[in-house]
Amino acid sequence: MAPDPLTPYGNRPMVTPIVNAVNYEYLSFEVLRQITDGEIDGYTYHRDDNPTVREVERKIAALEGAEDCVVCTSGMAACTMVYLTYLKAGDHLLIFHDTYGANYKVSLILERMGVEITWVDADDAVRIGEHLRSNTRMIFLETPTNPLCKVIDVAAVRKAASAVGAMVVVDNTFATPYHQNPLALGADLVVHSATKALGGHNDLMAGAIAGSKEDYNRLWFTRQAIGTTLDAYSAFLLDRGLKTFELRAEAMARAAQAVAEFLAGQPKISGLSYPGLEGHANHAVAARQMRRGFGGMLAFDVGEDEEDAKRFVAALQNIYHAVSLGATESLICIPYLTTMLYLPPERRTTFGVRKNTVRLSIGIDPPERLVKDIRQALACVAQGVKAGG
Ligand code: PLP
Repeated sequence: MAPDPLTPYGNRPMVTPIVNAVNYEYLSFEVLRQITDGEIDGYTYHRDDNPTVREVERKIAALEGAEDCVVCTSGMAACTMVYLTYLKAGDHLLIFHDTYGANYKVSLILERMGVEITWVDADDAVRIGEHLRSNTRMIFLETPTNPLCKVIDVAAVRKAASAVGAMVVVDNTFATPYHQNPLALGADLVVHSATKALGGHNDLMAGAIAGSKEDYNRLWFTRQAIGTTLDAYSAFLLDRGLKTFELRAEAMARAAQAVAEFLAGQPKISGLSYPGLEGHANHAVAARQMRRGFGGMLAFDVGEDEEDAKRFVAALQNIYHAVSLGATESLICIPYLTTMLYLPPERRTTFGVRKNTVRLSIGIDPPERLVKDIRQALACVAQGVKAGG
């Protein structure tokens, strides 16, 4: 009997071992046969599978209420694996404008390969039926969306998709599985940038796709073919991050709600979008499909123009000017200049992103500290203080 790589010591280690082996010595032809026939969960080569990675897959599947999960090298690898696995030339993909910018780049590759693509405004999600075709195979969405925190009714999209036999894929990175489980709402697959709140410490890149066992098998085939298997050390860090994920998600949502309520009364702030505010256009949908709070992401416009937004960001002292999100630290960026750079300038503003829109990712800071910091940065905007850098 082959030793289990995760329990080689008789007792189970408290911490998931980092198995750095690329290949494994076959102990017998019989063990080789059992692995290749799928009779045992054994390991042969890292591109196929890795025990440290497998441990994280089980945990993320449990968080999403999925039968299984495939973990890969980044959130964009996860998105791309989904497109490559389920779409072919002649298929139609419906995707929303307000989706993480790099999906636009991938869409150019998909179009080159013969996939037809329609971009829809997330505000038009209720009329999604008008954009569906007989060859629509996939609807890909984020809710809340990146960066504007719009909320899309997953069950309604599911209903429309079923009419044409399309699958529904939800990128749940902004919401996190602590607040929302898209599979329970009718999605076929859930995608994550595990680089964000699941990892949570700005120190790893990973992606995850959760779904049925059949989907696991199809996505595993793609990962094994193209080689997007996560390395064991990143999987270990992700496993470590997951230990505190729920505590962090709870703290982030609590502070985000407090910050949003503070921002709602500020004269220099407009276009405030946080699903937990009653004034949010889709608060009722968010309240139905999210639980235990509304996540740690907010978007809003500062002052009148890009200079005001830059003044604000530069004046913050406890909130870091950086991309990414879902980390222990609070992070802020101007999407027009950062995450949306992937889009041609005219596309960046078609769905509501302005040059003075900021995206704020709340970390685990106490809400009072964040409010104090934002208050003094807004005072700098009011005084027209020059942005430092
Ligand atoms: N999906 C969302 C919602 C994101 O915000 C990001 C990155 O910011 C990605 C996917 C891509 O993730 P990664 O940077 O891990 O490739």
